[in-house]
Amino acid sequence: MSTEQQAATDKIPVGVSSCLLGNEVRHNGGHKRDAYITGTLSDYFELRPFCPEVGIGLGVPRPTIRQVERDGMLRVVGVKDPDLDVTEALHNYTAAQADAIAPLYGFIFKKDSPSCGMERVKVYNSKGMPENRGTGIFAAGIKARFANLPMEEEGRLGDARLRENFIQRVFIYHYWRTRVEPCLTVAALTGFHATIKLTLMSHDQNAARQLGKLAATARPDNLGDVASQYLGDAMTTLKKVATTKNHVNVLQHIQGYLKTDLDSQDKAELVEIIHQYLRGEVPLVVPITLLKHHFRRNPDPYIEQSWYMSPYPAELKLRNML
Ligand code: SF4
Repeated sequence: MSTEQQAATDKIPVGVSSCLLGNEVRHNGGHKRDAYITGTLSDYFELRPFCPEVGIGLGVPRPTIRQVERDGMLRVVGVKDPDLDVTEALHNYTAAQADAIAPLYGFIFKKDSPSCGMERVKVYNSKGMPENRGTGIFAAGIKARFANLPMEEEGRLGDARLRENFIQRVFIYHYWRTRVEPCLTVAALTGFHATIKLTLMSHDQNAARQLGKLAATARPDNLGDVASQYLGDAMTTLKKVATTKNHVNVLQHIQGYLKTDLDSQDKAELVEIIHQYLRGEVPLVVPITLLKHHFRRNPDPYIEQSWYMSPYPAELKLRNML
């Protein structure tokens, strides 16, 4: 089943900071509805809301809280009432959500929040000065417990490359968890690697080679360990943003599969389109579309099953911006 067909039949469960969905759960009774998440992404993802501060019973409206450093320890306390310390409550809430987060294939956090922010959250040092070096307690807890879960902040989803990177990771992680992991065999692992190899190459060519070597070491007696390491390393590699140069290398690699099929005019056109992409004159979708056109006429089983050619529903238009 292609990713297009998959998205049409069932949406992928993804966690979201509740206020991003328009729920009025912020400290001031407001929300931070994100139009891209509630619009475009809701067509493909089943968005499940989490609000840790409401979850620990702070209510709406509620006193604002912030992260502070006290005696070398990170605490989350009230801005007006420093005796209001919700650190343990947030840790306990996060631990209690493990069963609700386990079936998710991605998580989108609200940036800057002392509970939900993924990075650069303000931490007030012992002198009362803010430093942008913290992580929200809820986000940090999820990251520690579910290391392979794709995560991103809503602010970063505004960047075309980061947006494409996150969405692709969600689709690949979902594929692994629902199609590969439940019936794991040596052949399923090496088949998965063959499917995503070109995608891995677009993120990091050396890491893609290492992952190929790792997959090749799988045997029935070590399969669980190898698969676990493979998934961890693959998700780490996919987190690296794919560069134009790496995409060009992959496009040229794919072009090689057509070397005996195209006449000199078609070859020259393909080379020129790839160079136009390299020069930033056309987006990635253009050479990919031309390649798909040639492979429709000259099918190749390896390219046909490759994730790189159809990583997610084309309607998301992610490659139109790369
Ligand atoms: S940022 Fe997190 S804790 Fe704050 S309102 Fe949104 S969901 Fe709730």
